[in-house]
Amino acid sequence: MPIQSPGLFFLYLCLMIQKHCFECGAALIEKELEGEGIVPYCPKCEQYRFPMYNVAVSMIVINEQNGEILLIKQYGRPWFVLVAGYVNRGEQLEHAVGREIKEETGMTVSRIKFNRTSFFEPSNTLMCNFTAYVKDDSELTPNQEIDSYQWFTPDEARKNIRPDSLAERFLNAYLDDED
Ligand SMILES: [Zn+2]
Repeated sequence: MPIQSPGLFFLYLCLMIQKHCFECGAALIEKELEGEGIVPYCPKCEQYRFPMYNVAVSMIVINEQNGEILLIKQYGRPWFVLVAGYVNRGEQLEHAVGREIKEETGMTVSRIKFNRTSFFEPSNTLMCNFTAYVKDDSELTPNQEIDSYQWFTPDEARKNIRPDSLAERFLNAYLDDED
């Protein structure tokens, strides 16, 4: 397949990942769909099979009392990241935000704000970033998925989050918007 544009290259990657129909297992072919271009197609089911990917939420957790941001360390790694987790099938993103924060930190989210999304190729995941506000840190009881945590001022958070990560890009974009 000739690769002529970044868009086609992305489609090519998707076709490489997803070669078979998820319903019947037949090999997918490429077929033109009006308005969409070339889309994987199952000749047996006679249906288009759009590329599938995972969806996750990532959260800038903010203490409403003092504006500090929660960063966490996980899975024995030395760097600070944002609280994040996968969205369940059928679950609303806004529900996943509150659920993940409750599960991992014990804290109740009082309100959320959508920021932006970014596709994370290594795990075939669409990452959806939100700001999530908590009233204070009195409920904070991290679960076993969290090795350690720390509250940072916005400037400190910028300096301490894992460099060159998607979490850093989300955090910096959010803080730049707030300025
Ligand atoms: Zn099929």
